[in-house]
Amino acid sequence: MECGCPDIHECKLREYAIDLEVCPERVAGAHIKKEEEVNRFYVRNMDKCILCGRCVRVCDEVAGVHAIDFARRGFESVTAAQYYKDMELSECTFCGLCSQVCPVGALLERRVERLPHQDKMLTVKTTCPHCPVGCELVLNMDRERARITRITTDMDSVGSPNRGLTCLRGRYHFRSVEKDRLTQPMIDGKHAEWTEGIEKLAEALKDKTAIFLGASVTDQEISAIKAAARDRPVTAKGFGLGGVDAAELLASFDVDSPKTPKGKSKPNTADLAQKMTLLSKAVEFGKDSSGFAENLKTLYSMGANIRGLFDSGVVTHTHQEALKDAETVIFVDCSPGDFGFTKDALKGMKKILLASNTCEAYEGTFDIILPITAWAEREGTYTSAFGETKLPVHGGPSPPEGARPLRRIFAEAMRKLGVEIP
Ligand code: SF4
Ligand code: SF4
Ligand code: SF4
Repeated sequence: MECGCPDIHECKLREYAIDLEVCPERVAGAHIKKEEEVNRFYVRNMDKCILCGRCVRVCDEVAGVHAIDFARRGFESVTAAQYYKDMELSECTFCGLCSQVCPVGALLERRVERLPHQDKMLTVKTTCPHCPVGCELVLNMDRERARITRITTDMDSVGSPNRGLTCLRGRYHFRSVEKDRLTQPMIDGKHAEWTEGIEKLAEALKDKTAIFLGASVTDQEISAIKAAARDRPVTAKGFGLGGVDAAELLASFDVDSPKTPKGKSKPNTADLAQKMTLLSKAVEFGKDSSGFAENLKTLYSMGANIRGLFDSGVVTHTHQEALKDAETVIFVDCSPGDFGFTKDALKGMKKILLASNTCEAYEGTFDIILPITAWAEREGTYTSAFGETKLPVHGGPSPPEGARPLRRIFAEAMRKLGVEIP
């Protein structure tokens, strides 16, 4: 039995029909053509719906939205949003849970369509790098581990802060892992070998250098960079918070930070993930997000490991001070814009970028560019923003040849200076 849709390896209807040797001719009947809607994130093909109700339940009980329910009666029954609205105009937050649980191809993520009829996918659990809520994600990959094909979640996962829920950013923003990848060092605008790139980084680490870190670097990468800066005229600074005090921000979510008022309970991260799904839709569709709390919006704009940076003592909002005597600036997995630096502010300094992807806005800005592994290819931990635990980070797809892990890059550069770092 086959209907030609990409859900072939997951379709339960097909699986049971084959097991029970169902003869399609015996169950044939009149065909009532039903709705088909293609939105930005998934396809709804009600012709394939078996009315199991799993999407309605998960939307209500896990996503907490109840954006869809059954409509009409008998053979004409479908699941639909209120007043049959398009999903984009409905309450749907595009969390993707309904398409994850749909047992047939009636709800299908659009991302899956580009790899039709492939074998069962390999899976690896990791932590979402996009914001400090720290949702657990399941990376689904093709058999060669060449690329992520979709993101799912484990609703039964013990200890998962989000309990299966993600916002649309966590669910769908995984293309960046393969898009515009940097695969060879660049020095003064020309391709260079890694040996030369490491030499240049080692030279920079002897200078008065300011290193700026993005908030998606792991705890282990922060430690390696801090070790490289130790006992030298090098400063390491964390992700730019745009003038927001990290301690105050974390305290506003009742985290275990020095400024947390005594006796306050820790936040419910599943609840926070739910708020993020709403905010995420507003941001993605360019809608008014003024109704959301400012601290939530700030949290949404940061990477996952803000707490790891904070605990390592490298978060600050006095970035300009770090630039004062610097002869060289190094941006690690972040850009000058994250810290509010204009091109003029960095004038006269040697500029080094360690990143996984190219960024048009900063083309021509950097003297040296070294390609690093992307978030989905890293191993280590993030520190939960809410203090209590370390969140595992596991690599899924294989990194492209030429991209290196941050710890290895800093260890090799320091070895040139006669220092071994862990
Ligand atoms: S994507 Fe999420 S919010 Fe939208 S209908 Fe599905 S489960 Fe409900
Ligand atoms: S989960 Fe799929 S098959 Fe079940 S009711 Fe929803 S759309 Fe139909
Ligand atoms: S809420 Fe944050 S951590 Fe969770 S999926 Fe969205 S961006 Fe990722």
